[in-house]
Formats: sequence, structure tokens, C-alpha cells
Amino acid sequence: MNHTSPKPNRVNILGVPVDHVTMESTLQIVAGWIDQDPIQCHQICTPNPEFVMRAQQDADFLSILQQADLSIPDGIGLIYASGWYGNRLPERVPGSELVNHLARLCAQKGQRLFLLGAAEGVAARAAEIYCDRYPGLQIAGTWSGSPDPAENDAIVQKIVSAQTDVLYVAFGAPNQDKWIARNSGQLHGVKVAIGIGGSLDFVTGRITRAPRWVQKVHLEWLYRLWKEPWRWRRMLALPKFTLLALKQSQTQR
Ligand code: UDP
Repeated sequence: MNHTSPKPNRVNILGVPVDHVTMESTLQIVAGWIDQDPIQCHQICTPNPEFVMRAQQDADFLSILQQADLSIPDGIGLIYASGWYGNRLPERVPGSELVNHLARLCAQKGQRLFLLGAAEGVAARAAEIYCDRYPGLQIAGTWSGSPDPAENDAIVQKIVSAQTDVLYVAFGAPNQDKWIARNSGQLHGVKVAIGIGGSLDFVTGRITRAPRWVQKVHLEWLYRLWKEPWRWRRMLALPKFTLLALKQSQTQR
């Protein structure tokens, strides 16, 4: 990880720093990393209220979020919370949209993209879709794999020997973020690595995102709960986050 690159203004939400970025400025920052020499692996994290609550009980995950080179506000809850802290973030930057923009950037800049994780066959299908959508895109490789430590070294080897520039890891949080942090020193040649959760499931249409109007009224989380009801337990993080962030913001003001 690179700790020397200048960081945008950040807001600290229950110990998790979140950067003041827009989709556009995020892409500019990543483009700068891609052009930069010497090569370092920059880690992007995509916190939402679930991440923040998880990090309250998982010191390793908290430390990874704190050390990320870029921490983008993936969840609308973070935008509201930043306002309570008097330092409102400009907009939501959904990781599931960023991955599409980054794939386009890779095509424009001749960067080799590796898709790791998701269910069997999903990454390969997503790669085909991306190649159709972004002509000239070079796919370094795809691999379903798993975050199991027994597979770790073979996966790193696969990524490095494929001359990967940009790496997407779809193992779900916090495993994907831990996987990147654990291996960033060994990912020679990789300039950018990002944990992308279920984004490849969206790309391939296995799971559909909420309609635009639902996204606009900030209810995408509710749509996701309707489509994937097994998430209810995880999503209890949202009311807990709201109470805790409100309480902390009031004591800080
Ligand atoms: N996943 C995986 N290996 C695992 C655990 C999860 O490939 O050991 C993938 C899963 O197939 C899906 C993604 O991780 O594509 C989903 O992660 P999550 O539900 O955390 O997504 P998010 O809520 O972040 O969108």
C-alpha cells in the first residue's frame, strides 16, 4: 500500500475515514496512479454502514479501512452521517458503478484488468461483457477462487504472471479487503486493487440493481433487501449505524 500519496479531505465516521470524492474525482485519482511511476499497489475500499459496523468489532478490518489509499462513500448512510458531523460528503460513489467506469478507463489506458472472485463462471462472463462494451479492453485473467489461505499463493502467482495492472476482488467484505491488504506487497505490477462485493453479479445480470428512480430516492438498500431477503440480518447494521453515528456526531459538535 502507498501511504505517501496525497489524500483528499476525509471525514471520520465512527473511526472509518471516508474521502471527499465524486465519481469523477475518483477516476482522476485512479488515472493518476495508473500513470505514476514507480508502481505501487493502491487499495480502494468501498465503505457503507455495514462495513462501518463490522469494523467496530473487527480491528483488522478497521485498520485496513483506515489505511486504504482511497475510501469511497459507497452507501447513502455515510452521506447522511457526514452531514451530521458537519462535513458533508459531495455524493455517493457506488462501487458497483465505479467498477464499470474503471473498466472503461483500463480500455482507454491499455491497462490489463484481472477479475477475481464471484461464483464459478461469473467473472469470465463479466469479462466478455466488458470486452464487448469497452473495445480494446485487455483482460489479464479471470478466476473464481476463494479467500481460503490454502489458495492464496497460487492466486497471487496467477495475477502477477498475467501482468495485471488493475485487480477486482469479489470475495465479499471484509474478506476481499483483507485479501488485498494481506497480499498487496506480493502483487508485483498491480497498480490498483479494489474489493467489489457483488458487482460482477450486477454486470452479468445475475442480480439486478434497483431502478434509477429507486436509486434517486436513496432506497436502493430497501430494493436489495426485497430481492435478497437473506440479507436482513446483515442489514440490521443500518439502524444500529444510524443511532451510533447520530449519538457520536452530537457529542462531537
Ligand atoms: N463471494 C466469493 N467467494 C466467497 C464469498 C463471496 O466469490 O468466499 C462472492 C459472491 O459470489 C458474490 C460476492 O462475493 O459475487 C458478494 O459479496 P457480498 O454479498 O458481500 O456483496 P456486497 O454486499 O458487498 O455487494
